[in-house]
Amino acid sequence: MGGGRRGLLPNTVKDVEEGGKSGYRRDGRNLIQEWQRQKTSLRPSVKHSYVWNRDDLLALDTSNTDYLLGLFGFSHMDYAVERDNARDPRLPEMTKAAIEVLQRDPNGYFLFVEGGLIDLGHHGNKGRKAVTETVELDEAVQVALSMTNPSNTLIVVTADHAHSLSINGYPTRHTDILGIAETSDMDYLPYTTLLYGNGPGFQDHTRGMRPDITDDDLLDPNYRQSAAAPRDSAAHSGDDVGLWALGPHAHLFTGVHEQSFIAHALAYAACVGDGLTFCGGNRFRRMPSAGGGGVGVNGGIGGNRSSPGNNNNNNRSGGGGGGGVNGGIGGNRSGVNGGIGGNRSGVGGGVNGGIGGNKSGVGGGVNGGIGGNRSGVGGGGGVNGGIGGRSTGGLNGGVGANGGIGGKSIGLNGGVGGKSTGGLNGGVGGNGGTWVNSRGRDRGNRRWQPQGK
Ligand SMILES: [Zn+2]
Repeated sequence: MGGGRRGLLPNTVKDVEEGGKSGYRRDGRNLIQEWQRQKTSLRPSVKHSYVWNRDDLLALDTSNTDYLLGLFGFSHMDYAVERDNARDPRLPEMTKAAIEVLQRDPNGYFLFVEGGLIDLGHHGNKGRKAVTETVELDEAVQVALSMTNPSNTLIVVTADHAHSLSINGYPTRHTDILGIAETSDMDYLPYTTLLYGNGPGFQDHTRGMRPDITDDDLLDPNYRQSAAAPRDSAAHSGDDVGLWALGPHAHLFTGVHEQSFIAHALAYAACVGDGLTFCGGNRFRRMPSAGGGGVGVNGGIGGNRSSPGNNNNNNRSGGGGGGGVNGGIGGNRSGVNGGIGGNRSGVGGGVNGGIGGNKSGVGGGVNGGIGGNRSGVGGGGGVNGGIGGRSTGGLNGGVGANGGIGGKSIGLNGGVGGKSTGGLNGGVGGNGGTWVNSRGRDRGNRRWQPQGK
């Protein structure tokens, strides 16, 4: 959905809305008709619709539509501030229709929504148009959020580039964003809160003075904010742009990234494409299995993951282990939540695998260790594994609630770099370390002393 009918119509065909204008195509092809014919040639049960105005879009029975093509403008769609709302749909309305049609697919969907006129407004240094189009996109995001479930739908919002718009000056509270920021303390002429680096908003100076904008109609949709350098069409800029995400794998979209990362992360999260994916490959292509095991929910990366009895079409396989939910990274895993770089097995399943270590829980432990072994036998496992060490037993097992760091710890809290046995708190730097009574004598005396005393 969008504008651009001229690009799909041959130059011998007049446009449905702008009758005086013909299509741009010189190859004689009418791609709208070709689309309709192609969909008709599919199974008779396939329902498709081509719409070119708001009434037809809103009247559409989306619950009975498999394919939808909507072209609402001969050229670009109109800006929100100039649009004939009775004739052209809004971006949030198009978003709603798109999701309604796509949500019917039980295998999921990918939807791309672009507030394309934000960019166009900026190219003209027309701040009001750019800002109001941004509000349209904001509403489209709200529609998508309200129609989807973050437990199974990833929504990412970002931009493909910035423009040289700056929000500047010290306007007083409640000043319109399109208004005057203040009067310059040098030339005593006002300037607007929104200014551009370059573009058609540049105005010649007369006798060294900037134009006086005091009487300008700043709310005119076609008002151009001033630009520092002249350009027929404002250029894009190199600023970092915002990146927001909600839903499965949203954590991948935090921090600063090269723009190319976004597409790979989307493919990874959606398990599509030939590259690395969360499913360990292309989930639409069955991979050879190792050892004939079953298939679990979400496979590991670089590791085996197994689950008996679950035979969906995913490509994880294993040798018949216990299986579980979410595979490990770089390791073997069975149970609930795999480890990173380690083995993990749970008879009955543990919760959260270790990083770089083994974790096994008969009855299952909670939280695996980092770089260490962790085992809980019979006692129901322990709570929190050790870092670089071994934690034995568990909270309920009576020993080792928290694992040690760099050593073996048996006790409520593990030692750092040492072995702590049976004490409330583990030792630091070895047996008989800096914590007094680290080996458990005189429990309760936790007075700190320098090393060696
Ligand atoms: Zn642009």
